Amino acid sequence: MTDVRAGRIESFIKPLRVVPGGQVNLAEDFAPGHGVGVAKKADGVELLQLGIELLDEYQRRLAAEQTRGVLVCLQALDAGGKDGTIRHVMSGMSPQGVRVANFKVPSAEELDHDYLWRYARRLPRRGEIVIFNRSHYEEVLVVRVHPENLARQRLPGPAEDSGVWKRRYREINAWERYLSDNGFTIVKLFLNLSKEEQRTRFLRRIDVPERNWKFSAADVRERAYWDDYQRAFSHMLNATSTRWAPWYVVPADHKWRARLCAAAVLAHALIDIDPRYPQTSAPARRDLAKAKKDLEKEAPRGAPADPYEASLADRNRKRTKKGGQGKRKQGSVQS
Ligand code: ATP
Ligand code: MG
Repeated sequence: MTDVRAGRIESFIKPLRVVPGGQVNLAEDFAPGHGVGVAKKADGVELLQLGIELLDEYQRRLAAEQTRGVLVCLQALDAGGKDGTIRHVMSGMSPQGVRVANFKVPSAEELDHDYLWRYARRLPRRGEIVIFNRSHYEEVLVVRVHPENLARQRLPGPAEDSGVWKRRYREINAWERYLSDNGFTIVKLFLNLSKEEQRTRFLRRIDVPERNWKFSAADVRERAYWDDYQRAFSHMLNATSTRWAPWYVVPADHKWRARLCAAAVLAHALIDIDPRYPQTSAPARRDLAKAKKDLEKEAPRGAPADPYEASLADRNRKRTKKGGQGKRKQGSVQS
């Protein structure tokens, strides 16, 4: 990765970052329709393609290195574009190294445990990227907006009055710090949608028959709590954007921009990790050379000793020949 490219990605995503220790107000500080400096959709789509290729390369290295893992936490209001973002950002990566974990209303078994239990069970392994589609942050969002969820968690004592949200922020920060110290990078994305764009997307789900299945009357009912959610998001961003796991607020009114931003933030995290393919040690290289000799001896009559090496040499010969012809052709045009 050239430093120039890494620097460009860093300056692209910097305005999206919630500065740790700062105080943001979602409604005033982050515009859901922000242009992020990319005016044309065609340019955005092209950049996203480059981003996807870059993610593919880095994900391979992460998987090969087997030392670090990445957890992506994706939060949004309904119709915020989580599914599309996941689909696009993951499209270039190997399914073997990437996993999505969806979190819905907790089951009876999950409610029998501490609130972080179900999230801890689905964390990435070393070498893996896991996307949390909704995450432990629901525990300070939907649970805060609808306190009956908290009652179901059967905490000891009067939770609401005992500063439960402050305590949860502290616990979440400490948990993420622990994960980060142990080699797991946490990427936190909040897809910031406007109320009007949400209305448009809900109506589209009603108007287009192929999208009817995505429509949920419950989502429309939840819209009545818009202001409560905005407050809960602001509190969450201020309390849990940390040096080791900062939040990024992604403008989500234009899907292509949101996908580009999400890919850029993830690429930035992977560039920062800079995973490497493992080096082959000298004894291992000697073993490889011996195995190569043994395999070459097995070549059937008439076959090249090493067909792969032979095909490489053949390809190189053709390329050199083509290059030469190209030069001659260019020369003849000029003459
Ligand atoms: P989509 O609608 O795009 O398929 P989704 O993530 O909205 O995806 P749903 O099944 O519609 O999935 O909704 C999941 C619901 O679970 C959301 O309303 C969310 O608020 C709720 N939920 C998630 N975590 C918790 C939690 N810890 N406590 C209570 N409700 C939760
Ligand atoms: Mg939903």
